[in-house]
Amino acid sequence: MKFLADHLMQFTNSLDTDLCCLQKSIAALNRRIGWVPKGWVPIYQKMVKSLVSLKDDVHDDATIVGPWIEDAKMEFTSRNLTPVLAGILRKTMQRSLCTCKNCGLPGKLRSFGEEAQQVLCARCFAPWELADQLAKWIPRLQSADFLESESVIVVDDLEPAFLALIPESHWRWLSDGSDGNALPYLLSKDVADLLPELKNLQTLVMEMATADE
Ligand SMILES: [Zn+2]
Repeated sequence: MKFLADHLMQFTNSLDTDLCCLQKSIAALNRRIGWVPKGWVPIYQKMVKSLVSLKDDVHDDATIVGPWIEDAKMEFTSRNLTPVLAGILRKTMQRSLCTCKNCGLPGKLRSFGEEAQQVLCARCFAPWELADQLAKWIPRLQSADFLESESVIVVDDLEPAFLALIPESHWRWLSDGSDGNALPYLLSKDVADLLPELKNLQTLVMEMATADE
């Protein structure tokens, strides 16, 4: 950070029109650090540091504008890039694609519903994943049709995030007779018994999921 503070102060505070295009771009990039999600700040700082470190004036005519924060990655628009600059920007974009936008740990692209995607680590995604499962199951458990159906639910019917919520004592066991193994299953009313707890959990999980935004 000290490196950046010392080296960027001259650009950030200066209105000097003698600055080359690249220096002006760096100054603007530095001012926009607030646009960067906190998990991606180290990647961004590393990029700015690389740009500041370039000594060769062959890069001077380049203009870099951004960051443009997409859900899945961090991008820049540019003009007159040298191969070295293009490499720095490409690397930054690629790093953002595999770094949790929220906390900076290794992450991957996670889907939210139909279209939205974000790069998150497993831990930051967990509350969202659970919230998604609860949003699907709670209305189902509240419907009279579901309860009256006496549906049989087997392990394969449940996503892992939801499966983990079912206490072991709730499972019924069906012996298949052949080799002494028993298969676990639930009836719809067994899951409906959990409704009050699931609703409490939903409230909690939504608080967790939105706490870091
Ligand atoms: Zn994370």
